[in-house]
Parts: sequence; C-alpha cells; structure tokens
Amino acid sequence: MSDLKYKRIVLKLSGEALAGDKGYGINPPTIKTIAEEIRDIHKLGIQIAIVVGGGNTWRGEAGAEMGMERAQADYIGMLATIMNSLALQDILESNDVPTRVQTSIEMRQIAEPYIRRKAVRHLEKGRVVIFAGGTGNPYFSTDTTSVLRAAEIDADAILMAKNGVDGIYSSDPNTDENAHKFDELTQMDIINKGLNVMDTTASSLSMDNDIPLVVFNLNKEGNIEKVVKGENIGTTVRGK
Ligand code: UDP
Repeated sequence: MSDLKYKRIVLKLSGEALAGDKGYGINPPTIKTIAEEIRDIHKLGIQIAIVVGGGNTWRGEAGAEMGMERAQADYIGMLATIMNSLALQDILESNDVPTRVQTSIEMRQIAEPYIRRKAVRHLEKGRVVIFAGGTGNPYFSTDTTSVLRAAEIDADAILMAKNGVDGIYSSDPNTDENAHKFDELTQMDIINKGLNVMDTTASSLSMDNDIPLVVFNLNKEGNIEKVVKGENIGTTVRGK
C-alpha cells in the first residue's frame, strides 16, 4: 500500500467510455478491459467507488431537444446510468471483484438504495461500490455526482477518465498545434481560462470541496494504476 498516492478513489466513467469505438451502447471488449484495470487496482488494496454516466444511450438534453419535458428526459438518463452500472457490476464480479451497486432512485429488487454509511462500510470491506442513477435529481450530471459522492465518502481523489484525451489542454490539440497540456490547474484557472472540463455545477462543488481531480486518458492500458500510484500523467485539478 505504501506506494499508493490515493487509497480511496471515485472513478468517473462516462457512458462513452463503455461504448468504445461504437460510440453507442456497451462494447464488450471495452468494458472487459476497463473491468480488468479496475480488478488490478483493487488487488493493490485501493478502495474504489465508481460513478457511471449514461451518455452512451441517453442524455436528458437530447431528449429535451426532441420536445420531451426536461425532467422526464433526465429521469430516462438516470435509468441509462443504472443499466451501465449493472453491466459493469456483472463483468467486475466475473473478474472476482466483489461489488455493490447503490442507486439514488430506489430499485430494491436489483440494487441497494444509496446509503452513505453503508457505502463506506462496503469500501472498508474491500467491495467496489458503484453509484448508479446520478444524484437522483434531474438537471444534474454524473460529473456532479462524482464530486458529490467523493465529498460524502471522503475520497482522496476523483479520477475523471477521458476517452483518447490525456489531460486538459489550453485549446483543442486536434485542431491547434500550439495547444499545450496543463499538469496542474485550480478550478478557478479553469473558469478564468474558459476551459471546458466539467459542467459548472460540478466545478463549483469541486471548488468548495478541494478534492483533487485527475483528468487522464482511459484508453491507455495501465493508466488508472499510474494515477493511483501518483505518476504524473494527465492533469490534476485542485479546488483552491
Ligand atoms: N442525469 C440526471 N441527474 C444526475 C445525473 C444524470 O438527470 O444526477 C441524467 C441526465 O439526463 C444526463 C444523463 O442522466 O444527460 C446521463 O448522465 P451524464 O450525461 O452525466 O453521462 P455521461 O456524459 O457521463 O455519460
């Protein structure tokens, strides 16, 4: 355990992270690779909580654009995160990783309801806890959920996994050859520089809580382990 920088983490996986190249739904080889990486850091003794997004099947905003009531569309989005969470639970368990899914909207037949103290107990017992259903409230995001849950369970860091981007850049590295990567930033820098990292609710919550947030590339094998061991990959964002 001594070479670990972070001992209790919240790993944020967007829905797209599960979709792989398909861009939609769940890509079996992709979710398998992610599960194996989680298994590997679990073996190191890290306490792992996971917040899963739902953008691979549904986003509230897109539903609203179709003319749907926003809150209703957001509830569908929350259900999408629960589907992803159950899929991730299944594949983690088949890799011998003990898990519990806790939902913010009660679904007692398939998962536990979110109970903070119980979640912490699971983590202490070495179970991976998957927080499903976002915050349980429309108009929020799973980025906000990860910051909120990280504060509630007193996590050491939030690992914000990105697809194919290895940190926060001054501008889009795909279109601007002068774009440079930041190693460290504060939430205030992000606002002042107009960088697009998280939604503003998630950013302001993060600013208040001061839990380091590491933005890193999920698509490079072994990166989750590198982050928990404190290797300088990605961009670390601090609250203050
Ligand atoms: N959502 C919500 N409240 C929450 C979290 C999520 O209403 O607390 C809904 C919202 O409609 C969102 C969808 O669930 O568009 C999927 O979540 P998110 O967009 O955060 O997923 P990701 O982009 O990480 O895949």
